[in-house]
Amino acid sequence: MYEAYLTCSKRTGLHKVLRVVPATYLEEERSVEPFADTFNALATSNNALELLEAIDSLPLLVPTERLGNERRVYTVDEAIAMLDGGKWAPSRPETLEYEAHFDAGVPDEDDNRKRATNAALRRRDAQAAGLVGLLRITDRRGAYVVAEPLLDWTFARNVLGLTARLLYQISSGDPGEALTRTGFVHDRSRTLKADVYRIPFAFNTYFTQGLGFFTVPDKLNPLMEKALKVEKTKTGTAKRRFEEGVGVYVVTAPVATDEYNSIFQSKMSIAEKRYYLCIEDHGEGQEQLAKECVGAIASAAMDLKGDDGENLGWEFDAQSLVDGSPAPSFSRHSMLPDFVYRLIYRSSQSEGIDICAHCGNAMLVSQGRGKPRIFCSDACRMRHKRSASE
Ligand SMILES: [Zn+2]
Repeated sequence: MYEAYLTCSKRTGLHKVLRVVPATYLEEERSVEPFADTFNALATSNNALELLEAIDSLPLLVPTERLGNERRVYTVDEAIAMLDGGKWAPSRPETLEYEAHFDAGVPDEDDNRKRATNAALRRRDAQAAGLVGLLRITDRRGAYVVAEPLLDWTFARNVLGLTARLLYQISSGDPGEALTRTGFVHDRSRTLKADVYRIPFAFNTYFTQGLGFFTVPDKLNPLMEKALKVEKTKTGTAKRRFEEGVGVYVVTAPVATDEYNSIFQSKMSIAEKRYYLCIEDHGEGQEQLAKECVGAIASAAMDLKGDDGENLGWEFDAQSLVDGSPAPSFSRHSMLPDFVYRLIYRSSQSEGIDICAHCGNAMLVSQGRGKPRIFCSDACRMRHKRSASE
C-alpha cells in the first residue's frame, strides 16, 4: 500500500496524484487480488477522499514513464525540487471539486462532497501532509515518485463505474431501460443532428481555473486522449470515439445539449464544464445500445497504446497455445484494460453485479456465499443510516 497525495501542477493548473513507490513497482505487471474488493473501492468511490484511499492499494494506471508526453515518474530528488520550487503547488479546492466530480450514479449530496473534499485536502495534500519531509528520509536508490493526473484516475473510475452499471442493467436489471436507468437522458441534438442518449462523463479541462483563455494546452487528460480517437466533423465539432465507426463518443456539453449561451457567463454549473458521453439512437432499443456502449469501451481498452505505440491494452497470449491451457488467455498490459477485461469476463457463477442500496453505484458481489451485500462501502452504510434517521 502506497499512500496517495495530491498536488496541483503550476503549469497546467490541474491536480496530480503522487505516490512514493519502490523501483520494482514500475516494472512488475501486476494483477490485483482480491479483484472484487479493489474494483469496488475504485468504481464506487463517491468523492475525492474515497478515490485517494482506493488508489493507495492500486497499481500504476500505466507502466510507462510518460503518457501524452507528460512525465509520470520522478526520482526522489526531482520530486523534492518540484515541491520545494512550487512547480507542484498546494491543491486548489475549487478545481479539485471539478476534477474529482463523478458522474451519474453518484448521489447529489453537496454537503458530503464538500466535507470529503476538505478532508482530502487536510489529510492528502502533499504540502499540508509534509510529503517533502518524508521524501528527505526516503532511500533514494530504491524509490521513485509517481505523478499521475487526477483526471486519469477520475476517467478510470467513471469508465469502470459506467460499464458495471450497464452490465448490471443488461443482465439482471431492466434491459429495456438499461440506459435511462443508468442515468442517460434521451434528447435530440441539433448540433449532432441525431437523437442521442447522453450522460456527463468527464471534466472539460478547457475550464481550468487560472489559465489564460487561449493558452489552454490541448491534451491535459492523457489517458482519455490515448483511449479515444478524436474525429473532427465537417462543422469542426470534435467527437472522441471509443471505437471507430460506432456511434459512441464524447463531446463537450454545448455540443451534447445545444446550450451555448452560458459559456461566457462567469458562474457555471458543474454539468456545463463536463464532457458528455453520447450514444446515437437510430431506433435500436436501449438494450442493444447499452451492449454497443460496453463493446465500444472494451474495444478502446483493448487497443490502448502508449506514446511509442506500445501495447497497453490486452492481447492474445501465444504461450496459451502450447502450455495446455483449456482456452486462449490474454495478457493485459496496464490497469484500466485489466480491470475492464476482468469486469466483462468475470466468472458469472461466482461474481455477480449488484447496485448499492444507497448511492446506486454498481459493485461486484460474490454469489452463493454468506449474506448478500447491500452497500458498496462502510461509508455508504453509514450514510444510509444517517439519511434514514433524519
Ligand atoms: Zn454506495
